[in-house]
Amino acid sequence: MQLRYRFRLYPNAVQQAALARAFGCARVVFNDAVRAREDARAAGQPFPTAADLSKKLVTQAKITPERSWLGEVSAVVLQQSLRDAERAYRNFFASLGGTRRGPRLGAPRFKSRKDHRQSIRFTANARWNITGSGRLNLPKIGAVKVRWSRALPATPSSVTVVKDAAGRFFASFVIDTDPAADAARMPETETTIGIDLGLTHFAVLSDGTKIDSPRFLRRAEKKLKKAQRELSRKQKGSKNRAEARLKVARAHAKVADARREFHHQLSTKLISENQGIAVEDLAVKALARTRLAKSVHDAGWAQFINMLIYKAERYGRTLITIGRFEPTSQVCSICGTKDGPKPLNVRGWTCAACDTRHDRDTNAALNIRQAAGLAVSACGAPVSPEPVLAQREETGSHGLPTRHRAA
Ligand SMILES: [Zn+2]
Repeated sequence: MQLRYRFRLYPNAVQQAALARAFGCARVVFNDAVRAREDARAAGQPFPTAADLSKKLVTQAKITPERSWLGEVSAVVLQQSLRDAERAYRNFFASLGGTRRGPRLGAPRFKSRKDHRQSIRFTANARWNITGSGRLNLPKIGAVKVRWSRALPATPSSVTVVKDAAGRFFASFVIDTDPAADAARMPETETTIGIDLGLTHFAVLSDGTKIDSPRFLRRAEKKLKKAQRELSRKQKGSKNRAEARLKVARAHAKVADARREFHHQLSTKLISENQGIAVEDLAVKALARTRLAKSVHDAGWAQFINMLIYKAERYGRTLITIGRFEPTSQVCSICGTKDGPKPLNVRGWTCAACDTRHDRDTNAALNIRQAAGLAVSACGAPVSPEPVLAQREETGSHGLPTRHRAA
């Protein structure tokens, strides 16, 4: 399995200028490739091959006066940019032909200097390296300072340098995971858990734990709101407004980082402690809601569940999403009696049949675990039969639990 590790970079002024040049060259080569394909299409000719484009747009272009500056950046960066254009077209045609999952893709667009995200990629043959003092040494850019927030578990196969909308630089390394080391890090366990994505909490677990976003995230969110309010008060086109906008972009980035960190910590903990994890399918969850009941956590849940999915695959855990609309807050998790709908302000209730006192959210999490077939009876045998294996893309359409698990 391949994973990305991202670290903040602090290039100095000279390195920033070199990076800007490299982003620019990569963009020009990408756009030249898009133009070459568009021209071929307009002329009714076959698309130029990758080798043709490389020769024409990189090797030969460098010796022309209009493109001589391409020689100032690493050739690998330019080749990778051509690859990106190629892949963008491949994805576009696959999307047209219906062989690619997800939303329909548009035709590749020209890149602009004004794009919020600029990036270049160095593969192993670009001769980049990490110096003894921990700097990232990039060809024709120099040894850039890195903030290593965690250790790289293996030697990366490539590095992408990104500049985001807030003007920050990052290095994103691709690492192949080591299955033996992963198994040693998270040995098998017997425990299973159900997760209810609640309205009052970020998540409630079937063991009764209630999880809220941490204080560092709430603080970042507050700062973002304040920056947004300030921005809305600034006059359009003024210098103050431009400054306020950058402030909002920075606050936005901080919130996204803090949220990602929270999701990483929580998903790793849940995967580490449980062999089986059950969670509601988000599409179904949204259906069961009124507009009024839309939760502030809605956006974050998708990222969190995606982390659970890839970590379950990486560490050999079973993740089951419940794709059927279950009235999880209306059914007693002990005796199965359906008690009927309750308004959102009813946080607890007592089952009329078995007299069990329920916390609304914990009871829902218990029902989710039960529906996934992960609940275990007193004698240790599973209560319900094994769920049917299903493909991920079918989630929510067939009403059966979906199992995400390493092959
Ligand atoms: Zn009951």
